[in-house]
Amino acid sequence: MNKDLRFVKQITPKSEDFSKWYGEIIRKAELADYAPMKGMMIIRPYGYAIWENLRAPLDRRIKESGHANAYFPLFIPESLLAKETEHLEGFSPEVAWVTQGGQEELEERLAVRPTSEAIIGSMYSKWIKSWRDLPVLINQWANIVRWEKVTRPFLRTTEFLWQEGHTAHETSDQAHEETLMILAMYKEFVESELAIPVVSGIKSEREKFAGALATYAIEALMSDGKALQMGTSHNLGQHFSKVFNIRYEDRSQNIQYVWQTSWGVSTRLVGALIMSHGDDSGLRLPPRVAPVQVIIVPISIGDWKKDVLPMALKIQNELTGIGLRVELDQREEFTPGWKFSDWEMRGVPLRIEIGPRDVKKNQAVVVRRDNGQKGSVGLASLTENLPGILSDIQKSLFEQALDFQRKNTHDVKTYQEFRSIIEERKGFLRTFWCGNPSCEEKIKEETMATIRVIPLEEDTSMAQGSCILCGKKSDKLAYFARAY
Ligand SMILES: [Zn+2]
Repeated sequence: MNKDLRFVKQITPKSEDFSKWYGEIIRKAELADYAPMKGMMIIRPYGYAIWENLRAPLDRRIKESGHANAYFPLFIPESLLAKETEHLEGFSPEVAWVTQGGQEELEERLAVRPTSEAIIGSMYSKWIKSWRDLPVLINQWANIVRWEKVTRPFLRTTEFLWQEGHTAHETSDQAHEETLMILAMYKEFVESELAIPVVSGIKSEREKFAGALATYAIEALMSDGKALQMGTSHNLGQHFSKVFNIRYEDRSQNIQYVWQTSWGVSTRLVGALIMSHGDDSGLRLPPRVAPVQVIIVPISIGDWKKDVLPMALKIQNELTGIGLRVELDQREEFTPGWKFSDWEMRGVPLRIEIGPRDVKKNQAVVVRRDNGQKGSVGLASLTENLPGILSDIQKSLFEQALDFQRKNTHDVKTYQEFRSIIEERKGFLRTFWCGNPSCEEKIKEETMATIRVIPLEEDTSMAQGSCILCGKKSDKLAYFARAY
């Protein structure tokens, strides 16, 4: 139908040029636009609505697990950031500085926060005096600036949105537990809300957060075979508490340094949705995060405003009434065919088509975005049937992504095999690594693959093997991949 009009929304097939495909979806689905400043983006209303739909269920989980939201300043005095040299050195190439306020040169430069450990740590040292003040479980939703050289909308931009949790505890065990609890929460959140399967585990020393004792992460495989870090949870130990002097009187009246964690996910998750689920017709959004879950397109033939529109409005009301996010596309300047591809581009999970003949038969045509399946549903049973179809779509998108992840996770035993798979098929390469940073470094130089995570527990027959590069015996199984 309407081949010429479909052309309006046509995009580069993802198999032909993944990066171009990604950019075209962002533009044509109106998710984001490039800002006049290099490396920055504007999140447009449709893209922002997706972010809000991710944020709400994550915020709920954060609060349900005992954390509260707060807000800290955007600027961090240089002296505060410089207190922790490893941390500053880790971030210094990416820090933006404010040197002037109004007409006056500042006595001390202010960093635009690249992350908030320093400013929050300095406040915790004031607030925490006794074991009775612990744990402190605070989260902040904020914007962050990192002066990136190479940027791509949602994946890497100079300014982005995120949440950062910062907690302080009495004991090392409690901080460790918190780190792992958040890691598990992120995994559950991403898998059930975004329908993206992830692998989780610990980062190597080389890949960990500047100043952390240990960094844990969830990683997903995008549909071009490259990995994307989806969220991180850091056990900071006492590193920052010693620098920022966050001390408390313990239960035996001894003075101790607190144990800390920090953790975050960002607007990069919107990019992950595009790259995990999108196809050659555009986005495919999981119903739970879709700004519009059901789009109703009246078939505008004959006197459709009289014959079809009242029924379309009635359907919209009923579906909205049961809590679904529903829109009715009444635009007169576009044909139904054009509208179909427009909403496909935006990834709306379900489309209802209704024309004069459907009204007569008391039915509507329901089309699924995840698999293109089309069927007639009686109008009386729409409210009963649609929630079930939507949860089926949520499940089917997860299963498709999981199937892709499984097919693209390769157990490799020789370095030659490693190199040829990373060149030809990419994906996760699961293999052994001796733990030596020089092996890790050499593998990165030669193949551009990095260790994404070392899984905490893995259901695999590979209990022990030899380092993929040097051959030394090892029980350290690692996921390697080329990554964004
Ligand atoms: Zn080795």
